[in-house]
Amino acid sequence: MLSRAPKGTSDILPSQIDYWYYAENIIKEVLQSYGYREIRTPAFEHTELFVRGIGETSDIVNKEMFTFQDRKGRSLTLRPEGTAPVVRAYLEHNLSRENPLSKLFYLGNMFRCEKPQAGRYRQFNQFGLEAIGSPSALVDTEIILASWAIYQKLGLTNLSLMINSVGCRECRPEYLEALKDYFHDKKKLLCPDCRERYDKNPLRILDCKNKQCQIEIKNSPSIFDYLCKDCDRHFQQLRKYLDSLQIAYQVNPLLVRGLDYYTKTAFEIISGELGAQNAVGGGGRYDYLVEELGGKHTPAVGFAAGMERMISTMEKQEIKIPFWEGIKVFVATVAQEDISAALKIINHIRENGVSAEMDFLDKSLKAQMRLANKLDVSHTVIVGQEELKEQKVILKNMADGQQEKVAISQILRYLQPKKKG
Ligand code: AMP
Repeated sequence: MLSRAPKGTSDILPSQIDYWYYAENIIKEVLQSYGYREIRTPAFEHTELFVRGIGETSDIVNKEMFTFQDRKGRSLTLRPEGTAPVVRAYLEHNLSRENPLSKLFYLGNMFRCEKPQAGRYRQFNQFGLEAIGSPSALVDTEIILASWAIYQKLGLTNLSLMINSVGCRECRPEYLEALKDYFHDKKKLLCPDCRERYDKNPLRILDCKNKQCQIEIKNSPSIFDYLCKDCDRHFQQLRKYLDSLQIAYQVNPLLVRGLDYYTKTAFEIISGELGAQNAVGGGGRYDYLVEELGGKHTPAVGFAAGMERMISTMEKQEIKIPFWEGIKVFVATVAQEDISAALKIINHIRENGVSAEMDFLDKSLKAQMRLANKLDVSHTVIVGQEELKEQKVILKNMADGQQEKVAISQILRYLQPKKKG
């Protein structure tokens, strides 16, 4: 128990961290170039926010939330997703006052009590972007472009974009009725989850992965026969913009997302590398969420993506990233009495942006030199009484083994990387 992380969680070790830094930096860089600004919201919120926001019929609210009571008996939930908290913060801080279109992004842990499997964890990381305040398909296009640009910049290949429209308040009810009519006689053939979905949210039947359900889904009515004029126009507009940019996509009428708040556009970015859990990210329009959470009618659109799936795709595709270069300098001491002087010297080196390490285990000079070799440093500074008398140290170039006496004030000249140009 004590020596194992809880089921569905994992540690990100120093050997993997460079992938995370690299991906996080690219996400920030790309999104800021599109004008999105980072927002950081708490890891937990009032449970009601997710129940109202994500919807009571969603799998997340039904069975995946980590909900607990605080000491005063108030119900709190570890955030299972980032959109509802961002909208809560948008309303709480009246962000629309600053700008009629708020363009926000986030990076952070999410928590869902799912059955752990490859690509599905109970604590995972997502980045996401939200544009709150415009009904235009141009914003949907930009969200797709910005998300796509991140994967491009990371160098990921074998990705595809799927888009759909899930309708709106006007046209969806009629479509849901049509689905219910269609599945009515086939209910017995559906999996237990889908039988439940039939009553609660028949749209969700469409993306069931169960083989038998998929057979039944094949001939189900298409949303495109039910979209109202406005939804249809919006979808055609989005397609036109994507076409004009020569972004390849597939229209998939079965693409419905697991969160109830989506309207009009729904989209997913799929990796050919990930097996069953192949969506690296997904998003769509959520025109009623702001209203649902107590604001005035404010159309919005967003995207969220799993960092773990992104990074495992980077590893699978052997994306070259700049790894940490390791420690550059080792500061060794001849005897105990040299330690204070060595501390001053190592501080001076580090303050100037050069990484340096020393011994903390009271090792002999010989053992310290072995450690310096193991760390693969470029130079070792040897601090000893004799040289200190002249304000000097011995500097050993580890590549050729040459040693020379160097004035302490001059050490950096030997250690700093040569300036380019
Ligand atoms: P969603 O918030 O469900 O739309 O998910 C968006 C993306 O987050 C998915 O495409 C995955 O990449 C990632 N994701 C969702 N749930 C999990 C999970 N349990 N473990 C790891 N990644 C997840």
